[in-house]
Amino acid sequence: MRPDEFEDLVGRGHKARYPAGAFLMRQGEPSDCVMVLLHGHVTIHSGDHGLMAVRRRGELLGEFAFFQDGLRTASVRAHDDVTVVKIPGRHFLAYLDANPRIQRDLLRLAIAKLRTAESRRTKASSGAALVRALAQAAEGFAEDPTTGPLLVPLTQAELGGLAGISDLSVVRGMKVLRDQRVVDARARKGSVLIPCLACLRRAALSTQKYGKLPGSINGCGGAGSCPEG
Ligand SMILES: [Zn+2]
Repeated sequence: MRPDEFEDLVGRGHKARYPAGAFLMRQGEPSDCVMVLLHGHVTIHSGDHGLMAVRRRGELLGEFAFFQDGLRTASVRAHDDVTVVKIPGRHFLAYLDANPRIQRDLLRLAIAKLRTAESRRTKASSGAALVRALAQAAEGFAEDPTTGPLLVPLTQAELGGLAGISDLSVVRGMKVLRDQRVVDARARKGSVLIPCLACLRRAALSTQKYGKLPGSINGCGGAGSCPEG
């Protein structure tokens, strides 16, 4: 989406603020609007799967319902204090009618999001599912530019939900990731410290090649030179 197209979209709505913990949308409710996230982070939850994703500034929320049967497919909750632009459904549909290319792109994106969630839950080993979920969450919480250590404020239980794996598998997987210096052991409780996002991305990519968490990721640990540059 070009900047002028983005401005056109947000110009069709009005700003709203939500405090941390508030629900922006609830699964199963009829949908009457989409939202564009301007500030803060939200988590996406599904009744069947638990935590599904983390979304950040610039992302569109609630568009699935407009490609489907009109009911919210997931709940959206403010992780921190959040500002959005709420765009009434009829204004969003008018925007799509005026911008067929964006309509196609959004549909592709919606399908890709569904595929990501599905592939995490079916094919991957628990270690691979964990590192992919962690990488996705880290992208969600990353600020621009994405350099330096990054704190992912999710508990092990939330990561387990995101990856679709058991608490025990999270504990095992996290140990491997710490040993490989992809995760820093010195994080406070209820969060994960990523010393280098580039090395986490590389670890997540390598699970697509091998189907599991390789034993030799060799993260740079954020110290000095990173093999990813
Ligand atoms: Zn690195």
